[in-house]
Amino acid sequence: MRPSTIAIDGPAASGKSTIGYHLADCLGYLFLDTGVLYRAVTWVAQDRGIPVEAEDQITRLGEDVEIEVLPSAATDGRQNTVKVDGRDVTWEIRSPRVERDVSPVAAYPGVRHALTKRMREIACKGYVVMVGRDIGTVVIPDADLKLYVVASAGVRAQRRYMELREKGKDVSYEQVLAGIHQRDRIDSSRATAPLRAAADGITVDTTDLSVETMFAEVERLVNQYDAVKCEQGVRNESSRV
Ligand code: C5P
Repeated sequence: MRPSTIAIDGPAASGKSTIGYHLADCLGYLFLDTGVLYRAVTWVAQDRGIPVEAEDQITRLGEDVEIEVLPSAATDGRQNTVKVDGRDVTWEIRSPRVERDVSPVAAYPGVRHALTKRMREIACKGYVVMVGRDIGTVVIPDADLKLYVVASAGVRAQRRYMELREKGKDVSYEQVLAGIHQRDRIDSSRATAPLRAAADGITVDTTDLSVETMFAEVERLVNQYDAVKCEQGVRNESSRV
């Protein structure tokens, strides 16, 4: 038997999305990187000039705003296309400006409640790889397989720095590292659904792993679960969340 629901959690740039996307591709499952939902709400708030402190207004956005996560048709490195009220914001939600405010937004219990409900509507159908901070602990605590992906802060900052430089962003390594530390701190210390490993999760440390070794390790964990080889399949149905 294969794991039908796979929950992958971990801090920023630990490799969890890369792993999740790969597993979804191998298994023919839906891939949902839940960070895009928090990013999308943050982006809308900024776009509408709503200050990050306005918890009630931002919570209403979390409840009402239409967010679509679609399979990627583009060849620009995106894993999915993210639309907010019909507008493609896939890259805008990755901006340093959104990164600065996303953790405070994600700490609001009302925002979490609204987005968790959307995530569960997708998870309950099964055949899904869901990636985030609280997937194995809160969103789908009964997930079949739970991975907790970690890496040193320095390595994570270096990965994120390289990604941003490749996209032509003018940022320093020190800025990226500071941002990572700040998000780690807020995500781990918030009262509602903090970042932590599920008690029954398997920790994968990617600090010294190449992408190939990382993939081999998680495929081994999946195969160990079902004793069946990871096969190439049809991936990524559309999801409206
Ligand atoms: O994974 P990503 O870096 O895109 O997530 C952006 C932010 O969204 C995280 O720093 C965290 O504050 C929030 N998040 C969360 N719970 C999730 C997914 C993301 O709090 N399940």
